[in-house]
Amino acid sequence: MKPILPGSAIGVLGSGQLGRMFAIAARRMGYRVHTLSPDEDTPTGQVADLEINAPYEDLDAIAKFASGVSVVTFEFENVPAATAAAAERCAPVRPAGHILHTTQHRLREKAFLSKAGLPITPFRRVASLAELSQAAAELGLPAILKTADFGYDGKGQHRILSARDFEPAWSTVAQRESVLEALVDFEREISVVAARGSNGEFIHYGAIENQHSHGILHVSLAPARVADSLVAQAVDIAQTVLEKLAVVGVLCVEFFVTKDGDLLINELAPRPHNSGHFTFDANVTSQFEQQLRAVCGLPLGSPRQLSAAAMVNLLGDIWTNAEPNWVAATAVPNVKLHLYGKLSPRPGRKMGHITALSPTVNQALEDAKRAFQAL
Ligand code: AMP
Repeated sequence: MKPILPGSAIGVLGSGQLGRMFAIAARRMGYRVHTLSPDEDTPTGQVADLEINAPYEDLDAIAKFASGVSVVTFEFENVPAATAAAAERCAPVRPAGHILHTTQHRLREKAFLSKAGLPITPFRRVASLAELSQAAAELGLPAILKTADFGYDGKGQHRILSARDFEPAWSTVAQRESVLEALVDFEREISVVAARGSNGEFIHYGAIENQHSHGILHVSLAPARVADSLVAQAVDIAQTVLEKLAVVGVLCVEFFVTKDGDLLINELAPRPHNSGHFTFDANVTSQFEQQLRAVCGLPLGSPRQLSAAAMVNLLGDIWTNAEPNWVAATAVPNVKLHLYGKLSPRPGRKMGHITALSPTVNQALEDAKRAFQAL
């Protein structure tokens, strides 16, 4: 593949914070960035050269958008399959549409992972209230019901502790095709963010340790505080996933570490991931620049981490009483503030993050928390 060189335009489907950080990395290297989404004045649009406002279903707009760029990538994996196909007729799409198709549907993703012989949580497909009760009898409780498609950040999920929860859970998933998963009593959660180049080159950022609150990522620590052997196992699994899917770009594998020290894959995200945001400040090449290099057919950059890091997400909730105290937070040494330019801070909405860079990961966690509390 002939490399797509600086000066070329890259198309980003989706316009949130992932696209924004991708666009910053791309513009730093002299690329042009075009973004398309149904919204206006978006986090990506604010830093892109061109912001197109159109629904993903408007295939004429998608074709026109793709014709104006050298390659199309995405920051939002729920782009409809027909949209990716329309873009693919006019420009290369990386990662390819078939990867979106697999990873945007929990059942297809689980089928892919089990065929590849990779470890996943026990699950059942559920398409009716009767099937839910049958699946719960087979898997045992507690369990968690998730919509098969269009779920993220804990949306479209309901925990089931007893038969009394069947009906409310079925209404949470809006009576759509779903997956019932056994609730894993995990020791901790980790993720591996990795990239694969167009020539098969593979890099990774090691294991990242993640803490969630109400199904939304709260804190990420890098490196994860786990044994090297577990990191090696997680990275091996990630490499298998990227190779079997023939990913050209960045992909994140989220894992549960069980109390017995085993790894179970929770889910895949075929793009830069929230748990990899620390790489923007802490690594020679960030996950966003890595995505750019991969989709442009350039050599991947060194993923080497220059400092231990802790990242804390800033959700809209912290705006509840007043504007957060940015002055106090930025007074904490070694802390970097990122805000995504979103205009309305709703509870649960990702508005920004802070990253602390410190000599040890425990110190980074303390520094990040100090800055977070100062807000
Ligand atoms: P997801 O949207 O599937 O990534 O879920 C968001 C978060 O909910 C996960 O990172 C976990 O903290 C929790 N969670 C999801 N599925 C399970 C499960 N099967 N067992 C235990 N916790 C889960």
